[in-house]
Amino acid sequence: MACVAFSNYQAIGAPSTGIEPVAYRLGGGRSILLSYEGNGERILAVQVLDLGDQNSLSRSGEILPTPTNGVLLPMLLIMRVHDTMRNQLVELELREPGKVSIYACGPTVYDVPHLGHARTALTYDILKRYLEWQGYETNLVSNITDIDDKIINRSAAEGISESELAATYTSIYIEQLREFGVKDPDARPHATEYVDQMIKIIEKLVTNGVAYEIPESGIYFDVSKFETYGALVQRTADDLRESAQARISSDEQKNDPLDFALWKAAKPGEPTWESPWGPGRPGWHIECVAMSLDLLGDNFDIHGGGSDLTFPHHENERAESEAAGHTFARHWMHSGMLNVSGEKMSKSLGNFQTLGDAMSRYGARPLRLAMLQAHYRSLMELSDETMAGASGGIERIDAFYRRMQGSGITAGNASKEVRDRFSQAMDTDLGTPDALSVIFETITAGNSAIDNQDLPVASSSLAAVTELLEVLGLSQIEDSFDAEIDELLLNREKAREEKNFAEADRIRNELQSKGIEIEDTANGPLWRRI
Ligand SMILES: [Zn+2]
Repeated sequence: MACVAFSNYQAIGAPSTGIEPVAYRLGGGRSILLSYEGNGERILAVQVLDLGDQNSLSRSGEILPTPTNGVLLPMLLIMRVHDTMRNQLVELELREPGKVSIYACGPTVYDVPHLGHARTALTYDILKRYLEWQGYETNLVSNITDIDDKIINRSAAEGISESELAATYTSIYIEQLREFGVKDPDARPHATEYVDQMIKIIEKLVTNGVAYEIPESGIYFDVSKFETYGALVQRTADDLRESAQARISSDEQKNDPLDFALWKAAKPGEPTWESPWGPGRPGWHIECVAMSLDLLGDNFDIHGGGSDLTFPHHENERAESEAAGHTFARHWMHSGMLNVSGEKMSKSLGNFQTLGDAMSRYGARPLRLAMLQAHYRSLMELSDETMAGASGGIERIDAFYRRMQGSGITAGNASKEVRDRFSQAMDTDLGTPDALSVIFETITAGNSAIDNQDLPVASSSLAAVTELLEVLGLSQIEDSFDAEIDELLLNREKAREEKNFAEADRIRNELQSKGIEIEDTANGPLWRRI
């Protein structure tokens, strides 16, 4: 049973009659009501609600553990995610009530980020933003792999050092992800800073008899000693061995084609670190084990990454950590891959797969919206059509704000019904496509409310849209172009008041040449991009 710590939340009274109900305020403006049986041993109903509302979601009759000193109480409306290890939707079961620790594999920094990196980072950014909105404390760690074969090869080709190459692409990655609206993780460890911790884990694996040395090659993990190898991908080691055999070159001296390097012996010209097995460098998988366990501790909540990392990277991480005596991640989440389709699109954009190119062509928000309109686990096709739809969506959002502003409407209280529908979508495996539908339906309702002069509904829609867009990182950004348009509109209004219609028309034409159409309404002029 998942629990949440209520110690930091404020009890807000007992709104229903009968058996000692207590309500607590959670994040995101929601509350939880717990109704106890007389002796306090059974909780009869849990409702997530706003005070006074008796028609909220409820799951009655659940028998739940007795609260401990009123501090730890069960929380029922909790997020379900697809757990790769169990291959099904499961409720998040947290290590520590109210706190979510997440490790998401970051990039190997040998080139500029492509759209796949952006999609992976976006997935964990959304997960973190949503959980925080729900009142959870989150700790997201996302690493930088700054030593790897690809970095060594690329730096040799460019004639610069590995660290120089990695530093360059690390700053580009960080800068572009920020521009894409992905918040910085709580920690961004670099693999090369954790070599000591990696060596300690490898020593443990050698002591435990699950690793062996191949002279002049390195230290290898012995997969035959790890009983559940393959479980993360619902395969057996025999299955996996068959497919691995084909890829293995005959000169390998490994005991088993599935065995993998923990420590690679030094080769001429490569960066090396001292170790009990001589100079060398760590294998890739051990890097993430050392960083995640060091920063999040054993038994952390969620390990994530792109689905291409599930096997072998994540399975090998699991094997290494558990065989070294650690309890590894409680849940595994994987985000889907991304294809850029459409002949015209690829031709016109050339290097379109890079995040930088895509953002300069379409803008960060339309790109972000396009990605969130696909479920994070789906194989996403990014096409001209998808991008046209997303750009239209962002324009709809911004037009909504301009209209609200033009009508003098300010944000009131976000409707509970809208928030609940949004939460239900997100609680179901981070359902951003459904969550976005809730936002766009609210925009439609807000626009109709202005048409009908229903100011309370308009003001409540504005509040809900603003709050929920922020959760998805899609908030309207005031850009200088908008400010310029606003100023021209103001000048046009002035000209009209002074009956200087020639000047008013001139401004209208100037706006048209900038791709802006004006509509004069009872509440003043509105503009939209054409
Ligand atoms: Zn990793």
